[in-house]
Amino acid sequence: MERTEIDGVPVLWAAGPAPLSAALVFGCGARDETFRSIGVTHLVEHLAMGTLPRVHHERNAAVDLELTAFTATGRPEQIVDFLDGVCRALAALPLDRIGKEAGVLAAEGGHCAHPSVEGLLHQRFGAQGPGLAPLVGPGFDRIAPEMVSGHAARFFVAGNAVLILTGPPPQGLRLPLPPGPRAAHPVPVPLPTSGPIWFNGVVPEVGLSLLGRRDAAWRLGMGVLAERMERVARHQHGLSYDVGGDVTLVDADRRLYSITVDAREGQEGAVARLLWAELRRLADEGPTEAELAEECAAARELHDDPRTVEAELLEAAAAELFGLPYTPSAERLAERATVTPEDVSRRLREALDTVQLVVPPEVRVELSGLAEGGCRRSREEPTGRVFRPPLLAKLITRDARGLRLILTDDGVALRDPDGDVHLVRFSEVVGVEEDGAERTVFGRHGCHVPVDPVLFRGAEAVVRAVDAAVPAELRYPRSALTPAD
Ligand SMILES: [Zn+2]
Repeated sequence: MERTEIDGVPVLWAAGPAPLSAALVFGCGARDETFRSIGVTHLVEHLAMGTLPRVHHERNAAVDLELTAFTATGRPEQIVDFLDGVCRALAALPLDRIGKEAGVLAAEGGHCAHPSVEGLLHQRFGAQGPGLAPLVGPGFDRIAPEMVSGHAARFFVAGNAVLILTGPPPQGLRLPLPPGPRAAHPVPVPLPTSGPIWFNGVVPEVGLSLLGRRDAAWRLGMGVLAERMERVARHQHGLSYDVGGDVTLVDADRRLYSITVDAREGQEGAVARLLWAELRRLADEGPTEAELAEECAAARELHDDPRTVEAELLEAAAAELFGLPYTPSAERLAERATVTPEDVSRRLREALDTVQLVVPPEVRVELSGLAEGGCRRSREEPTGRVFRPPLLAKLITRDARGLRLILTDDGVALRDPDGDVHLVRFSEVVGVEEDGAERTVFGRHGCHVPVDPVLFRGAEAVVRAVDAAVPAELRYPRSALTPAD
């Protein structure tokens, strides 16, 4: 891997198969947003790409949890033009086009990770950092121009970029980005939990995550678990088709490992039981030597494929942007070869307490050792002023009878028809949506409380309290782009 620098941007390159591919990578992803600014990174990307002239070579851009990449493949002069255009656009974003792009983005939808992984991240981190992944937030039309320019000025600068190329830098290549330093990223802090849980999430597939470390034994262990799930759930029981894996950066050393397994309609509970059982078996007994050898052989195959040059360059770019050590592929292979079955089982055993398992809505499971989790709710009503539905509503619907809105000294709470109480303290508010006389208060722990004078008699007083307690920059009118509810 070669290294040079152009206009203050580190350039990493290695010879790969023709034609030339380039990716201008920024240390900025969905986890760098806040609830209030969800989607701003994607908006920056669309505004920049939207300024480029029509071309016939391959080009694209994508935002994931951690990185934004502008990519192109073509003749050297095409790559030069593309990168010049992207950099100039990022230096002077067409903010007047926000309204138009907001509509396009709302229509596009899109995910920055597997939807079940997003659900797992939200459960673990709440409405902050990586936990924002599955949320829509206030909507693209509620992102103000100064939020876009502020985000671009902080993240889309020369010091926070790395260019990767599958060949030497072409003649005349310039990267005229605005100057600026490498961005710092807060370390995501998991919400407090009392042990391993399962929960219902708005997810399409069963998934499981656990906190591990950045090392070869972890990678191998999760690879073996995926293989076993494929063998057991798919081939033996015919319950599922697809097994996926994901790794999320927590800090320099820690990683969140996720595995997702789809299920035939109605078999989600059975797949969840198998997944939990196989993980525990692997933690108890460890993998076999043959399984470890299989994983190493698969990694070697990938290492030898010339097309992996790009993935390897991206790995090095990410390490550079996050200030992490980069271990070249050959060294990683050597590390893998030294891993023993006991190394894997010890790591998994130590991490079992951090397991969170998600099943789609309405699926009920009994899993020994896993308590039911979900949003932070309790059975105890806090002290405060209580608001109830109007009498008529209570006569008509059974649900309305148990419903209460409670205004406490430092927040609002909702008692739902099941008797669960969801409390959002004002200090934990990440956003308040305004819809006429109604407010929806979103909390950092993932709960939200509807403050609706139609739903609760006298709730105008709660609306006033919310408006007085929550800073103006966290309040926004309901998006015109999302359908009601
Ligand atoms: Zn809740």
